[in-house]
Amino acid sequence: MPADTDVVIVGGGLAGLAAARRLHRAGVSWRLVEAADRLGGRVATDTVDGFLLDRGFQVLNTAYPRLGALLDVDRLDLGFFVPGVRVRKGDRLLRLVNPLREPAGGPGTALAPVGSLPDRLRFAALAASYATLPPERLLARPETTAEVALRRAGLSHGIIEDLLRPFLSGVLLDRELATSSHVLAMVLRSFARGRVGLPADGMAALPRPSPRRCRPGCWSCTLPSPR
Ligand SMILES: Cc1cc2nc3c(=O)[nH]c(=O)nc-3n(C[C@H](O)[C@H](O)[C@H](O)COP(=O)(O)OP(=O)(O)OC[C@H]3O[C@@H](n4cnc5c(N)ncnc54)[C@H](O)[C@@H]3O)c2cc1C
Repeated sequence: MPADTDVVIVGGGLAGLAAARRLHRAGVSWRLVEAADRLGGRVATDTVDGFLLDRGFQVLNTAYPRLGALLDVDRLDLGFFVPGVRVRKGDRLLRLVNPLREPAGGPGTALAPVGSLPDRLRFAALAASYATLPPERLLARPETTAEVALRRAGLSHGIIEDLLRPFLSGVLLDRELATSSHVLAMVLRSFARGRVGLPADGMAALPRPSPRRCRPGCWSCTLPSPR
């Protein structure tokens, strides 16, 4: 372990790299030790036959609260997804979009047999309240599970089972939707406020520019100067 430094960071995933950046800005010396032969942790991109393949389904939401403080988002050359979902019902694949962002998809979204129209209006109202209230007010609300919060918002069994449970299971990795309603609020807040995209060089562009490797498994500081 390096002894000539104020702080030793164990692990060079996004958390360790964010810590390194923060220490760098505060003028504190640091060394980062990483068990793997590269930085980035779970965020990695492989090149296969000229295609960039991210490991796992990873996307970047521009409304993540700490994003601007940690990354130069313009550098990432993000490409954005249409804000919407595809819902499989039987052998049909239905496309629902945010009509405020893609008006052309509004009629198809309004008519799609996924929950009822009042359901979709209630969900829009819920997402709008999450998007407009400040995080401290959302987090001051009594905490329950994500599922209970959705039901208390008046959403029907149909829209929860056809759309929200499958979608949120993928995001929260929790099919039971037992995750905190506070997490639900912050996740939906980010989706409502931000845009979801991918860097042109794949998600591995997030951990770049990388610190300099000083010896195997140990990196030191060549992060850009604080702005
Ligand atoms: C399939 C999948 C999809 C995801 N999708 C998204 C998404 O769309 N959007 C999003 O924001 N997040 C997503 N996430 C979550 C995001 O990837 C993680 O939250 C984030 O990368 C975790 O970073 P971390 O630094 O906490 O941990 P990790 O990335 O796990 O990094 C930990 C690092 O520590 C190292 N390490 C561990 N023990 C030691 C040791 N003893 N000594 C030295 N090194 C050690 C490991 O090798 C690793 O490099 C996804 C995650 C997965 C798995």
